[in-house]
Amino acid sequence: MTNPFTCRNFIDGNWLNVADGTILESRNPANKNEIVATFPRSINEDVDKAVASARKAYQTWRKVPAPARAEYIFKVGELLTKYKEELAQLMSREMGKPLTEARGDVQEGIDCAFYSAGEGRRMFGQTTPSEMPNKFAMTVRTPIGVCTLITPWNFPIAIPCWKAMPALVCGNTIILKPAEDTPGCATKLIEIFAEAGFPPGVVNLVHGIGEEVGKALVEHPDVNLVSFTGSSETGSSVGEICGRTHKRVCLEMGGKNAQIVMDDADLELALDGAVWGAFGTTGQRCTATSRLILHRDIKEKFTDMLLERTSKLILGAGYDSKTEIGPIINESQLKRVCKYMDIARNEGATILIGGEIAWEGSLKDGYFFQPTILDDVTAEMRVAKEEIFGPVVALIEVDSFENAIAILNDTNYGLSSSIYTRDINRAFAAMRDIEAGITYINGPTIGAEVHLPFGGIKQTGNGHREAGTAAIDTFTEWKTVYVDFSGSLQRAQIDNRE
Ligand code: ADP
Repeated sequence: MTNPFTCRNFIDGNWLNVADGTILESRNPANKNEIVATFPRSINEDVDKAVASARKAYQTWRKVPAPARAEYIFKVGELLTKYKEELAQLMSREMGKPLTEARGDVQEGIDCAFYSAGEGRRMFGQTTPSEMPNKFAMTVRTPIGVCTLITPWNFPIAIPCWKAMPALVCGNTIILKPAEDTPGCATKLIEIFAEAGFPPGVVNLVHGIGEEVGKALVEHPDVNLVSFTGSSETGSSVGEICGRTHKRVCLEMGGKNAQIVMDDADLELALDGAVWGAFGTTGQRCTATSRLILHRDIKEKFTDMLLERTSKLILGAGYDSKTEIGPIINESQLKRVCKYMDIARNEGATILIGGEIAWEGSLKDGYFFQPTILDDVTAEMRVAKEEIFGPVVALIEVDSFENAIAILNDTNYGLSSSIYTRDINRAFAAMRDIEAGITYINGPTIGAEVHLPFGGIKQTGNGHREAGTAAIDTFTEWKTVYVDFSGSLQRAQIDNRE
């Protein structure tokens, strides 16, 4: 057990203690007796300082040429590469992911750095002919201003990078408000931004409770944009405040993702996808597979294969090399998963395997839940509709392709989706008819790449996308510029053309 890591706020280039001095803790979910980090419970005064610092720095940063801004981000990519193992070890201890997945999380940050840095030399606008002689018309991208980035604990390096890097290359300044469960990862990440040498105030970090400082950052009149990833409930309230205060808001919220397995699928491949999609990151991904829609002709066989594989999964601390499934993030989330087991039983679902807290041996010190398969689930049950965010997957039987697509779409969410089939016609029909932001053909519902847009439809999002060039759209405004070099007043739509 190592000593707790002391986290502070980072404002105007300085590591600061908070105004009122209250300290909170993050604990190892695999061993709740271990304090991983301590962090400040910031108050409104700290928020005001961070916003003032970001506002001041914005006036200079927005004028730094985009390719020069990109060089700082490139440097962050190099430093993330250097500290990858250290970050992965901390992440595994702080939020429980197996080390292989934690390394993948950091790698996503590295990929995002190099991709975003490249965007600094593109950032293209358009030119188009004017309708008048001796007049030039073009569009340029301009930054938005001060951006509040509110992030969850499940991808504690990747998600802040997804938001911070495009925001910065576009010329915005940022304030990161990380989740209460992963202050250590956020602090290490901002230490890396500091080492990369960003001018003071361009990058700021404020720790604290979501309903306190998160809300204050969303409400603050000097913040121009809020980018939020988290629960649908919190996202709705963030969206309402931003609507009222005229801020641009980018929301990434829940999912109830499904994988379809058709009667012609390669079942071994579909099994690998289902196990990874449902139980990877202990099911705590917004893209996790929480419904398996199985064609009746393969359901029995596939269920047997899935049960066998699930029964062999090894639970443990993420930093133990044998571990395949880590802990649930905290006690309240563990209780929530338990509550859904009661709901499942009351609704008539059958728990084929799992369904209980895992207590054996050293697991008793953490928040472990057995990988769980629910059978006899129908589309209208709550366990088929609501996001559980744990290692739980519901099996739904269907008798046709059309029925499978209809059930997949029968949800308020629309983030990720998957179909396993060897029929090319069905694959293309699924690509067209599935209602989701992301569709995988013969791959699991998880595995986003940073140069493609990421996000969902329906109640998953609000129309924005992260990553890819879509992120540049999120973090810039279009400015239209007309240059009249005729030396006379030319009135659009009024002067007669000669
Ligand atoms: P999760 O279920 O992942 O914890 P939350 O939506 O509660 O989802 O948290 C995601 C992020 O939103 C965290 O950084 C949290 O501190 C922050 N947060 C929680 N409540 C609010 C709020 N009312 N306003 C702004 N941010 C909030």
